[in-house]
Amino acid sequence: MDKSATMQTADPELMRAINRFHVLDTLRRFEPISRVEIGARTRLARATVSAIVSDLIAEGLVREGLADEVAEGTGPAAGRGRPRIMLRMNPQAAHVVGIKLSLHQIAILVTNLKAEVLLSLVLPVRTERIAPEVIADLLEDGVRNSVAKAGLRLGDILGIGIGVPGFIDHGAGVVTWSPIFGRAMPAFARMVGDRLGVPTIMENDVNLVTLAERWFGQGQDIDDFMVVTVEHGVGMGLFLNGELYRGHHGLGAEFGHVKLGLDGPRCRCGQTGCIEAHAADYAILREAARIIELPDVTDAFAAHQAIAEVTRLALEGDERLAALFTRAGAALGLGIANLCNVLNPARVIVSGAGTRAGSLLLDPLRATMETNLISALQGRIDVLVEPWGDDVWARGAASLVLEGIYRAPWSRVDRPKALIGA
Ligand SMILES: [Zn+2]
Repeated sequence: MDKSATMQTADPELMRAINRFHVLDTLRRFEPISRVEIGARTRLARATVSAIVSDLIAEGLVREGLADEVAEGTGPAAGRGRPRIMLRMNPQAAHVVGIKLSLHQIAILVTNLKAEVLLSLVLPVRTERIAPEVIADLLEDGVRNSVAKAGLRLGDILGIGIGVPGFIDHGAGVVTWSPIFGRAMPAFARMVGDRLGVPTIMENDVNLVTLAERWFGQGQDIDDFMVVTVEHGVGMGLFLNGELYRGHHGLGAEFGHVKLGLDGPRCRCGQTGCIEAHAADYAILREAARIIELPDVTDAFAAHQAIAEVTRLALEGDERLAALFTRAGAALGLGIANLCNVLNPARVIVSGAGTRAGSLLLDPLRATMETNLISALQGRIDVLVEPWGDDVWARGAASLVLEGIYRAPWSRVDRPKALIGA
């Protein structure tokens, strides 16, 4: 954080944009906060902070504290001289919509500038059975309805973020492969954006959870962490050096398709030996079907119920079913250890519905990970479990849009490199 604030650059406009982002981000994280405290946390000069805060107040993004909030100051400079004015974000200054597409449902929510949920809507839809155009139609109706119920108009919505499982080219807004769309490669973000007349961006759903962890969760205090999600598939979000890591083609961190061997079980992606094919819900169901009677789990609703049932039986003591979770946990632990040995994150956050298996999955995960870490890292990487629901995924989608708003002045400085510093 402080790195950028003290970065040397010859371009004053770019410098102002960077400083503004840091002031806004500090406000969001530590409000109510005084100008002096913002200066201390960002290491920006008092005059710089004052100028930026004046702009933010003029834009309606930030408000000065009411009289009864003035006395609350407890920061480093509290208690000296005249009372300090405390600053807060104005949560109503902007509204966004977050959407998560799953195989068995669509979750939509409307949030304010602080990603507080104003309204959420869940549509039970088997998305993989319907054409992208029809999903876009459903989203259009769902968003219009949710926005109206939240007491807003579409014109009040600054952006829509959509989380989709699979390989998503974030930059192009294109789905390269997804269990929902297959290989249809629809420019789905544009399909939705055009229907509603609102800027729409799309991202891999796990990247959204990672962003939400950074904004609100277990990743607020560290710059290097990974999020592993276990659900119908296995996903990963990487936060490295304080940024979401997307990779050169926007397809980075496809942990679910890291191979655990030269051969192995067949994966949904068409290849063999992927971690998903060992540890995801569908992999466990495939093995469970050899042990107990299961309904046809090619149906997303049925699969959703069946995995909950298999987990319940395993937790209640069915040893053959419990062994499936032990193996899945060990496969995840081995994969995570491999990545930790490469990237050395401070923390690994495990999330998703798969964590409902609790210690059945997580104990072997931790044990196998620990055994396979290089010795210098053993005992030094936290593994935390975050049993998050659908709202949080969609809230991550909202964060994606909010991040863009927070960074807006930065992205506006979009001109040929040769001109920077001229
Ligand atoms: Zn695969």
